[in-house]
Amino acid sequence: METKHTPGPWRACCESECKCGQIWSPVADHPVATVISGQWGDKHPAIRLVGKTSFNMKAEAYMDFLPYGTVDPEVAKANARLITAAPDLLAELEWAVSVLDALGGPSVQERKNAAIRGRAAIAKAKGE
Ligand SMILES: [Zn+2]
Repeated sequence: METKHTPGPWRACCESECKCGQIWSPVADHPVATVISGQWGDKHPAIRLVGKTSFNMKAEAYMDFLPYGTVDPEVAKANARLITAAPDLLAELEWAVSVLDALGGPSVQERKNAAIRGRAAIAKAKGE
């Protein structure tokens, strides 16, 4: 099946132990997302005056950081886990829908298989 998104599986860099917070597609060999951990906000260019006296003061450009809040590292790991589970969740949902749409309706065994696969995808997303 052709998709418009980067193909799965997706993996958190160093199993979320790396500070970069990147989510990668090993198949495509590029990052698909970055999870924020710790302080977050906007960087913007600014100018400040430096020097001890008015004779040697000069303007200096720098990047200022305006913090908006923080994300707990454990919350960031859970966010990474949910993002990396997205391709599996999509695949399992597509499969479950195809089973439910099958001509004549799904058999008892097909419904049980759909539930088993769905629970496995949900457990992966929740880190259980
Ligand atoms: Zn990394």
